[in-house]
Amino acid sequence: MSNEQIYDLIIIGGGPAGMSAGIYSARAGYKTLLVEKMTFGGQMVITSFIDNYPGFPEGISGFELQERMYNQMKKYGVEVKNEDVKEINQNKDGFTVTTSSESYQSHAAIIATGAKHRNINIPGEKEFSAKGVSYCGTCDAPFFRNKDVAIIGGGDTALSESLFIAKFAKSIKIIHRRDRFRAVQSLVDMAIENPKIEFVYDSIATSIVGDQSVKGINIKNVKTNEEMELKTAGVFVFIGLDPNTDFINFSIFDDEKHIITDLKMETTIPGLFAAGDVRSNTFRQIICASSDGAKAAHYAGELIDDKKGKAYK
Ligand code: NAP
Repeated sequence: MSNEQIYDLIIIGGGPAGMSAGIYSARAGYKTLLVEKMTFGGQMVITSFIDNYPGFPEGISGFELQERMYNQMKKYGVEVKNEDVKEINQNKDGFTVTTSSESYQSHAAIIATGAKHRNINIPGEKEFSAKGVSYCGTCDAPFFRNKDVAIIGGGDTALSESLFIAKFAKSIKIIHRRDRFRAVQSLVDMAIENPKIEFVYDSIATSIVGDQSVKGINIKNVKTNEEMELKTAGVFVFIGLDPNTDFINFSIFDDEKHIITDLKMETTIPGLFAAGDVRSNTFRQIICASSDGAKAAHYAGELIDDKKGKAYK
C-alpha cells in the first residue's frame, strides 16, 4: 500500500541520531516521519548508566535519556511509525521508503539505523543463546544473581557492562584476547578496583558448554596454547558491533558495510544522509550520534528548501 503524501524528510532509525535529527527537522518546520522497527533509543536503552553525556553530572540511565529525547521529538511534531524498513529507493521527487506494511515518499532521507551486537561464532553460542549466553547486561544481569559469569571482550561495552553485572553476579571473569584493553582507562580502573571482577588475559573462548543451560566456557591462552574450562552459569559476549545496513541497495559503504558520508553527513546519493553508529569512521558515542543527527537534519533542510525553491533558513 502506498501513502500518497510526500514528507520533507524520512528518518530511518530511532536511536539518539534519529531522534536528534527528528528534533532539529520538525523544530525547523519540516514535515518529518521517523520509522523505527523496535524500541526507541537504540543501544542507549540497554545501557544501564550513562555518565559522559553533557548536562547530567550525576549520570542518567539509558532508558531515561531515551524517554527525554523521545518526548522532545514528539513535542515538535515528528510523526512516528513502528515498522520494519525493507527497502529505500530513489524516485523523481526524492526517495521511497518501503516497510513491511506501507511505502512512504520524501524529498530527503536520513539513515540512522545504528548497529547490532556481533556474534563470536563458537560452538555452543547459538545453542545456549538465552540459556546463559547473552549480549545485554542491562537486560539479563538479574538472572545471574549470586552466580559466576564470564564476559568476552575488552572494549567499553565489556568493561562498563561488567560493572553493572557485578551488582548481581557472585564473580566475573573478563576474558580478553590481548593484555591491553581497548576500553577507556577510567572503566578499566573501576573494573580493577571491583573485588568481584577478575581478568583472564591473552585468551580466546573456544566453546561454550552445558546441558539445559550454560555450565562452562572453554578458553585457550594464545601465548602458551594452554587450554582450560572455566565453570560459569553465564557468558556475556561484548565483542563489538556490526552496522544495520542490510536493507540498503546503494553503493555507499566502506569495507565493513558502514555508510560513508561527507562532513554534511550526506552520502554520494544526493539527498540521502546517514547519522550515528551506522556511519563510517565515527566515534561511537551518544553525543556524536546526536551531533550527526542534528547536522544531517540541518543539511537535509537546506536541500529540501532548494528543491522547493525557498531561501535557506
Ligand atoms: P569495540 O570497541 O569494537 O571492542 C570490541 C572488543 O572485543 C575489543 O576489545 C576486541 O578485542 C574484542 N573482540 C573483537 N572481536 C573478538 C573476537 N572474535 N574474540 C574475542 N574478542 C574480540 O566494541 P564495543 O566495546 O562494543 O564498543 C563499540 C563502540 O561503542 C566503541 O566505539 C565504544 O567506544 C562505544 N561505547 C562507548 C561507551 C561509553 O562511552 N561509555 C560504552 C559502550 C560502548 P581487541 O581490543 O583485541 O580488538
